[in-house]
Amino acid sequence: MKKLFLMGVVLICCAEANAWGFFAHRLINRQAVFLLPPEMMRLFKPSIDYLTEQATVPDSRRYMIPAEGPRHFIDLDHYGRPPYNHLILPWPRACERFSEDSLQAHGIVPWWIQTMLGRLTRAFCDGNKQAILKAAAELGHYVADAHVPLHACSNHNGQKTGQQGIHGFWESRIPELLAEAEWDFFVGKASYIMDPFTHTWKFVLESAAAADTVLAEEARLSAIWPANARYAWEIRNGALTRQYSRSYARRYNEILDGMVERRLRESIHAVASYWLTAWVNAGQPDLAPIAAQPTSEAESREFEILSEAWKKSIIGKSCE
Ligand SMILES: [Zn+2]
Repeated sequence: MKKLFLMGVVLICCAEANAWGFFAHRLINRQAVFLLPPEMMRLFKPSIDYLTEQATVPDSRRYMIPAEGPRHFIDLDHYGRPPYNHLILPWPRACERFSEDSLQAHGIVPWWIQTMLGRLTRAFCDGNKQAILKAAAELGHYVADAHVPLHACSNHNGQKTGQQGIHGFWESRIPELLAEAEWDFFVGKASYIMDPFTHTWKFVLESAAAADTVLAEEARLSAIWPANARYAWEIRNGALTRQYSRSYARRYNEILDGMVERRLRESIHAVASYWLTAWVNAGQPDLAPIAAQPTSEAESREFEILSEAWKKSIIGKSCE
């Protein structure tokens, strides 16, 4: 019984170490669909459940494929201080300057978004429904990750400053507590992005600039908050879980002055805009006949396999 209980705790603890929590990734892809023009809605609206569910696939894959991890973050502080002009280079030139091994070691999310945007554009050109939806769902994941401040900073879980757990606190606990009840996701329409690479770097740099605030404000708050009121035990997904307490989370969110909601809204708008940009760059193909293509059983099976592997691998891991 005790073992089962611990497994439940471990499961939740590790699940929260993913980029935006699974809850937020699903929410972002889902809400992004409503920002699209009617021509794109023809395909994306009937597929909204698929896009929602598949939003978390890249995180599930991290436990199976070593190359997957670096696609979700970049440790910008490793490269010195802003404006990072020496780093903001097309992938081949960045590899020449820093070596691919070194880039991979410190995260490659800005370049990987370009790769995924290319995949989605090609899928639109090919008129392949399955490929479009898969690439769109996964592109949404990486664009959303790049909006998370702690994904642009080497102190990604507060491990260098004694703040372990802050990653899941910011990106899972706070959205799960507040998003559906209190936040607003009317973020206008998707916009065409003229220069996606520059645009990506803009929000990556914003994330990096916010990371200090995310860490410093939590450190300040924890210093004045009674230690026994910082955490609480709650049932979450059927398991008793040690979480940051509701009052502590609310206070931290107030101090951040809406940052988590703002980054979530910006993620939604960016995801829809990257989807739109790929479709426009592919020549705005008519999506009505593409939407009528049957979906593949093999694809849903792949999702099940990844989900199972993810569950097994995190149960077997210890939490840092
Ligand atoms: Zn991720």
